[in-house]
Amino acid sequence: MKFDENIRNYIYGEMEPPISGEYIDNYNPATGEVYSKIPDSDDRDVLRAVKGAERAFPAWSNCGVKKRFRILTRIADIIEQNLESFAKAETTDSGKPIALSRSIDIPRAHSNLRFFATAILHFASESHYMEREAINYTLRRPIGTVGCISPWNLPLYLFTWKIAPALASGNCVVAKPSEITPMTAYLLSRACKEAGLPAGVLNVVHGYGHKAGQAIVEHPSVKAISFTGGTETGRKIAEIAAPKFKKLSLELGGKNPNIIFADCDFEKMMTTTIRSSFSNQGQICLSGSRIFIEKHLYTVFRDEFVKRVKNLTVGNPFSDKTDLGAVVSSAHQSKVLNAIDLAREEGGQILCGGNAVKVPKCEKGYFIQPTVIEGLDAHCRTNQTEIFGPVVTLIPFETEEEVLAYANSTEYGLSATIWTQNISRAQRVADKLDAGIVWINTWLTRDLRTPFGGMKNSGTGREGGWEALRFFTEPKNVCIHF
Ligand code: NDP
Repeated sequence: MKFDENIRNYIYGEMEPPISGEYIDNYNPATGEVYSKIPDSDDRDVLRAVKGAERAFPAWSNCGVKKRFRILTRIADIIEQNLESFAKAETTDSGKPIALSRSIDIPRAHSNLRFFATAILHFASESHYMEREAINYTLRRPIGTVGCISPWNLPLYLFTWKIAPALASGNCVVAKPSEITPMTAYLLSRACKEAGLPAGVLNVVHGYGHKAGQAIVEHPSVKAISFTGGTETGRKIAEIAAPKFKKLSLELGGKNPNIIFADCDFEKMMTTTIRSSFSNQGQICLSGSRIFIEKHLYTVFRDEFVKRVKNLTVGNPFSDKTDLGAVVSSAHQSKVLNAIDLAREEGGQILCGGNAVKVPKCEKGYFIQPTVIEGLDAHCRTNQTEIFGPVVTLIPFETEEEVLAYANSTEYGLSATIWTQNISRAQRVADKLDAGIVWINTWLTRDLRTPFGGMKNSGTGREGGWEALRFFTEPKNVCIHF
C-alpha cells in the first residue's frame, strides 16, 4: 500500500476531498518536513458522513453477527498482509521507532479487529427469572451512529480499539483520527473498501479536533461518543455531550506511579522500568512517569537506572539501532522541554538528558534526550501534571502508607505498577491505589478481555472485552409474565 499521497476522507464508501477544498500540512516529525496533506474537514463533511452512517445502519445492524465477523476479519487480514506498509506509514507519521510499529502498533490493530469480530459471536445478554411469576431477558441492540475520536500516540492501535467493538456490535461509525497522525487511518479506510465493508458503515473524517471532532460530538444523530485524548479535551466533550444525554466513554490522561520495593526482582524490574519510562518516547498514557523507590534501594536503583538510560539511542526512527525516535510534533517538543525547565525551576536535579537532540540526517526533527530528574517533592507541579514525553522523576519513600499517599495525590487514576516479591503487600497496595489498571511485577501486559480505563480525571467508563460491547449497545429489558 502506498502512503505518499494526499489523504482523503472516507464517506459512504468513497474517498472524498473535503468540501472546503482546504488541506492541512502533514509533518514527518523525524525530518520536520511536510510529506502529505490532510483534509481540513468541517461540519459539512461530518454531516455527509452522519447521513451515510444513517443510510447504512438498517442493513448493517440486521445483517447478522456472522457477516460482521467475516468482514472485520477480512479487514484484519489486509492489515496483517500489509504490515510493512502500515508500519512504515505509522513511523513516518508519528516518529516512533519502526521496530515498535512492526511489533506493537500494527499487530495490535489487526488483533483488535479479530478480537471484537470473534467476541461478538460469543456476546450474550442476561436473563432474570422471577420464581413462578415472570422471566426478564435483556436485549442488547446497537445504538445507531456513534462517534470515535482518537489521539496521536498510538494512532491505528487506539483507532481500531474503538472502531472494532462499535462495528462488531452493529453500529455505524463516524470516526476522526488525530490530525497529527492520520495516515494509517487513511490506509485503514482503503482496506475497508477492499474488504467489502458496505458503504457508510465506517466513515473517516480527517481534520482538526475543534472543527471536525467537535462537529461529530455536537451532531444530534451521533448517539454515543468514544473518546481517547487529553483530560481538558475530554472535559470539553463532556460539556457538549452531557446535556444532549449522549452515551460517553472518556479515556483521558495519566500520571502513573511506578512503585519499587527493595525486595523486587531487580533485573526484571530494571529492564521493564526502562521500557515503561521511555517506550514510544514516553508518549503512552500508561507510562510510569513517577518512579517511587524504597529508600534503602534508592542509590543502587538510581545509579544503575541512569547508567542504562545514558546508553539508550535517540535516533532516526527507521534505524533498527534506535531506542527513542522523535516526539510527535514541534509543539509537543516545546511542551516537553518547557516541562523540563519547570522541573529545574522547582529545584529538580537533571541526572541525565534534559535537552533536545540533533540527529544526523534528521537535523530538523523533534528529538528529546531521555530525561531523569530527582530531588522534587511529590506534590510539586512537575509531579502532578502529565508531561507525556521521555521524562521521569525519582522519589524515595520509607513506608507503604507514605508511597500510597504520594501515588494517590494527583488528579489522575489511570494505571500503576508495583514491584515486590511479597504477594501480601502487592495485593494490599493494589487494593488501595486509585488506578483503573494495576500491574504487579510487569507493565503493559494486556489481555483484551479485561476492563481498560481510569479513575478520577483519567476518565469515565471502561473499554475492552464485554465492557466495550456493552458500551456500544443499548440494553432493553423485556418482561414476560406467566
Ligand atoms: P487531544 O485531547 O488533544 O486530542 C485527542 C483527539 O481529540 C484528537 O483527534 C483531537 O483532534 C480531538 N479533539 C481535540 N479537540 C476536540 C474537540 N473540541 N472536540 C472533539 N475532538 C477534539 O489529545 P492528544 O491527541 O494530544 O493525545 C494525548 C493525550 O491522550 C494525553 O493526555 C494522553 O494521556 C491521552 N491518552 C489517553 C489514553 C487512555 O487510554 N486513557 C491513551 C492514549 C492517550 P486534533 O488532533 O486535531 O486536535
